Amino acid sequence: MKQSRICVVGSANIDLTFRTPRLPQPGETLAGHALHQGMGGKGANQAVAAARLGASVAFIARVGNDAFGKSAIEAYQAENIQTSCIRQSVDQPTGTAAIMVDDNAENCIIVVAGANAELNAEDVKGASSLMTNSQVVLCQLETPVDAAVEAFRIARAANVLTVLTPAPAERVTAELLSLCDVCVPNKTEITAMTGQTIETEADALRAAERLRDRGVKRVALTMGGDGVFVVDETGSTHIPAVRVKAVDTTGAGDAFTAALAVSLAEGMSFVESARRASAVAAISVTRIGTQTAFPTMSEVNQLSR
Ligand code: ATP
Repeated sequence: MKQSRICVVGSANIDLTFRTPRLPQPGETLAGHALHQGMGGKGANQAVAAARLGASVAFIARVGNDAFGKSAIEAYQAENIQTSCIRQSVDQPTGTAAIMVDDNAENCIIVVAGANAELNAEDVKGASSLMTNSQVVLCQLETPVDAAVEAFRIARAANVLTVLTPAPAERVTAELLSLCDVCVPNKTEITAMTGQTIETEADALRAAERLRDRGVKRVALTMGGDGVFVVDETGSTHIPAVRVKAVDTTGAGDAFTAALAVSLAEGMSFVESARRASAVAAISVTRIGTQTAFPTMSEVNQLSR
């Protein structure tokens, strides 16, 4: 099969996870058990997840001119991701999340956007050939919305499919939705965008139709262990989650969205793509970590056998 081509526009972070017996009080210095350095950011997560599935992936992003930025780029290259359009900001550090997790799995997180906040429409314009040579352009909103709008404009003009993770939802604009072929919100995000709380399938359909009224063509509403609800012009389908023993659901949404994009690029139908994406996300929740948990296509095929 021909390799699918995906371009991801979005955030790149370093996650520093501090394991502590309990969360510290203001003014307190606490001895931690362990420190783990991992890669994160929704953009990077989606780029890595798509590359693991065998897609040819280009990543448009910003990191800092610092040690974290260099190690992030090296890590993406090790995943065969094209990094020629990752710019290094001069004044801002690589986006960093400081995550404290205590022995009861309670957490406390500080995220500094750093260089991510500098990704702009000019960066995206400068990388337009990466997008027009792709089959899918994938955006999230941990980087400025102007960059995502520009990416979707370029993609639309070239007939390239646009896929959006609307997170954080407060950054979504009417223009962005009008350029969006596939929107992949979770329950919190779709409620923030439409005002519709999701208790029943009728609620999910009502919320998805509100997004379609604003120009989105297809909606895949992810509902954690309750699976995914897909809506397009032909109707709606609920796809139950694959039953697995979940140990860490961080990044499940990114694994799902990347797999959906790869499957659509391969020419699978929307519903079949969402089924395969559910299998990919299910494998990722059985493993600890974010990018380290994303499966390869042969692991996905083994699960489906
Ligand atoms: P995150 O922000 O942690 O990346 P999210 O809130 O964006 O996650 P979810 O709706 O929690 O995304 O999960 C995305 C998909 O992952 C679900 O639609 C489902 O297919 C799969 N998934 C999540 N949790 C489970 C689970 N416990 N068992 C099986 N599959 C799961």
